[in-house]
Amino acid sequence: LMARGRPVLGEDGECLGAVFTLVNITTMKVLDQVKSEFVAKVSHELRSPLSTIHEQLALVLGEMVVEAESERGHYLLSRAKEKTRGLISLIGDLLDLSRIESGAVTREPVMVSLDEMLRSIVDFMQARVQAKKISMTAELPDEPLPEIKADPAALESIFGNLIANAINYTQEGGEIRVRAALEGDRLHVDVSDNGFGIEEKYLDKIFERFFRVKNEKTRFITGTGLGLPLVKGLVDALKGTISVKSQPGKGTTFTVFLPLETDKPECAGNLQDLL
Ligand code: ADP
Repeated sequence: LMARGRPVLGEDGECLGAVFTLVNITTMKVLDQVKSEFVAKVSHELRSPLSTIHEQLALVLGEMVVEAESERGHYLLSRAKEKTRGLISLIGDLLDLSRIESGAVTREPVMVSLDEMLRSIVDFMQARVQAKKISMTAELPDEPLPEIKADPAALESIFGNLIANAINYTQEGGEIRVRAALEGDRLHVDVSDNGFGIEEKYLDKIFERFFRVKNEKTRFITGTGLGLPLVKGLVDALKGTISVKSQPGKGTTFTVFLPLETDKPECAGNLQDLL
């Protein structure tokens, strides 16, 4: 059941009571589940032949002697290999998303040092950053942050995606900062860039599946529109929050809060949670 409620106010604004609507969403849930299972099955079936095609193209390209007459063939095969790689990563994202939707997101949580992980993601991405002449810095506290109990693959996916986006949507010579700090019983991580920015009307939409902003600056950037829905799903599963602030032409900041204890019992204080 899904509940919606609103207060009923008298003429002078005094509260007379409340109206609650209860909607039976069982059918919607079942349909959603069938859709998720279908996507997972199809993605799974497509992944293995595509991986074979990718491997075989890589083999042919590796063995090919490039001469003037085979140059075009080499170029076309390389493009085909790149496109298959794109499809494999799209399928990987779809599988991850359907896993989140079926509630089986996170594997066995372990104690993870988020500052070490952020440092290694930033190091790992340096080659991509340097190729684009972007400067990327990690601002982490001198004292190590307390470890967080979570699935390391989920954390890597969250921050890897946010940092990859910052690189993709920032022009040459730009700057990216990754900051992390302890705030009470939560970890606060900011990924900010001074890139293209996002118009306010799209700020909610970017977390929807397949949504991509199309404008003069972004039309040549390839992507699937699945990165942020995946990030949001993972942050939700870790009982954290994610928000975004952006100004077109100035840059974007994604802010993630993660509780140190991800498996605390939830507060059942409001009606929506109870139902
Ligand atoms: P993808 O990057 O594959 O298109 P995402 O779901 O990761 O998919 O992002 C959705 C859209 O949000 C992107 O297409 C882009 O328009 C916008 N976006 C995401 N991150 C940034 C950023 N750091 N700066 C500007 N735009 C961004």
